[in-house]
Amino acid sequence: MKAAYYTNKEQLELVELETPKIGWGEALIKVKYTGICGSDLHVYHGAHPTAKFPVVPGHEFVGELVELNDSSVNDIKIGDTVVVQPFFSCGVCEPCITGNDNVCQELKLLGAHCNGSFAEYVKVPAKKMYRIPKDVDVKLAALAEPLAVAVHDVRRSQLKVGQKALVIGGGPIGLFIAMVARLVGAEVYISEVNEFRLNYAKDMGFKTLNPKDEDFDQQVKTITNGKYFDVVFEVSGSKTGAASMTKLAKISGMVVIVGMAGDNYPVDLMSVFTKQLKLQGVRIHTQEAFAAAVDILVSGELNDQLYKLISKTFALEDIKAAFEYMHTNTDHFKILLEV
Ligand SMILES: [Zn+2]
Ligand SMILES: [Zn+2]
Repeated sequence: MKAAYYTNKEQLELVELETPKIGWGEALIKVKYTGICGSDLHVYHGAHPTAKFPVVPGHEFVGELVELNDSSVNDIKIGDTVVVQPFFSCGVCEPCITGNDNVCQELKLLGAHCNGSFAEYVKVPAKKMYRIPKDVDVKLAALAEPLAVAVHDVRRSQLKVGQKALVIGGGPIGLFIAMVARLVGAEVYISEVNEFRLNYAKDMGFKTLNPKDEDFDQQVKTITNGKYFDVVFEVSGSKTGAASMTKLAKISGMVVIVGMAGDNYPVDLMSVFTKQLKLQGVRIHTQEAFAAAVDILVSGELNDQLYKLISKTFALEDIKAAFEYMHTNTDHFKILLEV
């Protein structure tokens, strides 16, 4: 099969690989569309903490079920269109048996620890497939995985209708979170410095803030009646985002850590103490959150907004051009590969 392959750090090749063979509990998917995620670029640059080379990247995809070796899966048939929660978990560790297999001790992420979806075929855990009805646009279904990330993050934030939420970082995941936060009835603000992203967020109907504005703090106080935000999502993964997130949350508020942080991040723990804040980590998504994301897709509720997030589609063969585009042009959101 045709596949994009990271042979080593910053070494991307288009190669012929053997089509994966599936064992019990596994399924083979013929990939149709697959999104390029920030974390695929992290792996490429050798910046992912645990990814191994060589590897086929990619974990956001939609495709057709072509082979199934699991008799317990009977709601999905060969030929169905499916999306997949893209990781293997051990099934026996404490997180796994308590329903939290997204933090399994032996977690293997597709596209980082085992071969992913930038290929004609990908091997997946059969239990992690979700059927997509024929009337859903397959291109939109390729967004199920990042949408599930947002559903998981908003659920863990305990954000409620009528509350004010701030999303620090208006990239693709920031916008997905903002969309889901708005869906639960919150008033959502996006904080971003990049003009293109600010305009995009405004165009999608979100209120925006630019932390570089001299009167940023005054703006926040005015918006929140001097109380700051009920929930702050730190999605930027930047040191400035980490330094400001605790200041921007109200007393007894919630800060959700979404962006992948590096070492020595400047978190103001004194604020966590004096304001009695809650700090919530979030990793990937639970099965519950993934199922909810699929329901949202099927409902069509967010379709207009989701279409706006797809900036460009490249053929898998043109993956080098797609990477080049993403590295030289910051003015884009989701880039898809068509396989
Ligand atoms: Zn992703
Ligand atoms: Zn486990």
